[in-house]
Amino acid sequence: MIDLRSDTVTKPSDAMRNAARDADVGDDVYEEDPTVLELERQTADRLGMADALFVPTGTMGNQVGVRTHTDRGQEVLVDRQSHVYKWEVGGLAQLSSLQVRTIDAERGVPTPAEVQRAYVEESVHRPGTGLLTLENTHNSRGGLAIEASAIRAAAEAAHELDVPVHLDGARLFNAAIALDVPVTDFTDPVDSVMVCLSKGLGAPIGSVLAGPEPFIERARRHRKLLGGGMRQVGIVAAPGLQSLQNIERLAEDHENARRLADGLDSIAGLSVAEPETNIVLVDTSATGMTAETFLENCAAVDVRGTAFAEHLVRFCTHLDVDESDVMTAIERVESVCKDN
Ligand SMILES: *Cc1c(COP(=O)(O)O)cnc(C)c1O
Repeated sequence: MIDLRSDTVTKPSDAMRNAARDADVGDDVYEEDPTVLELERQTADRLGMADALFVPTGTMGNQVGVRTHTDRGQEVLVDRQSHVYKWEVGGLAQLSSLQVRTIDAERGVPTPAEVQRAYVEESVHRPGTGLLTLENTHNSRGGLAIEASAIRAAAEAAHELDVPVHLDGARLFNAAIALDVPVTDFTDPVDSVMVCLSKGLGAPIGSVLAGPEPFIERARRHRKLLGGGMRQVGIVAAPGLQSLQNIERLAEDHENARRLADGLDSIAGLSVAEPETNIVLVDTSATGMTAETFLENCAAVDVRGTAFAEHLVRFCTHLDVDESDVMTAIERVESVCKDN
């Protein structure tokens, strides 16, 4: 089976399993787990933030971040295709009592003018804008690597209006590698950032929320509130520390995504956009197959992907697929389209 559904499907390496077994641990609710503290320190340093908080999932990292920035009843500005709005079970409403204002931003990041237009000043009638969220890479828009200048421009526009900015950086290291810039180019302009260790970096579990010290102190309470206060969780943080070694190799996933896109685009009926990172979006319209049917046929030849829309399929490259898997996947998908 060549599993291209997501970069979350990777299995932990032997080194990660050994690190989990050997980890020095303590009760992390008492802030006494040395491995968690080390992971938080290292990740905060990499992201150029003062402090960080280990969380079990990216969703919890985003939701704790949002909750920490906002007051009940405020508005949050999000891109219409953003993960925090689209794929987190309505957490903005359910967990933080926020009203969402969507922006249909080109490449998923609003321009300063779009931020200004969407901003609502608090009054006796209006809720007031409490937060802007950004996303890099942009998942639903096909793993777009958003330029640091766009992040900075949007964040500065928000800050001029006294609105804080949270960056959903589930795949932020992919963006840094793809654009060949330091990751701090994306984090310097924002107030908080979440990164996932469990995606391209290959850790079995874990994400990190980073920001200023007082913010992380308040976020710690919100993590507890959402049930994320964990105990001897160094056994999970240890593979997370190992996963930070996998940042540079994300370039291989991007190379494999380009190979995959080239191969699939040459198949009659498939239309594939040039990938910017490790996500490949395939339009199946011209084959006459819906994404669901196409994926059923792919599964029959042991290739898996994810349906994103009626005629849109996502394939994701990762640590557990190499160049030869990609070539095999292309041949198998070709057979699916021929037999159709
Ligand atoms: C995967 C993802 C998340 C959430 O991460 P989980 O660990 O699956 O909860 C958040 N934002 C983006 C952009 C993602 O791709």
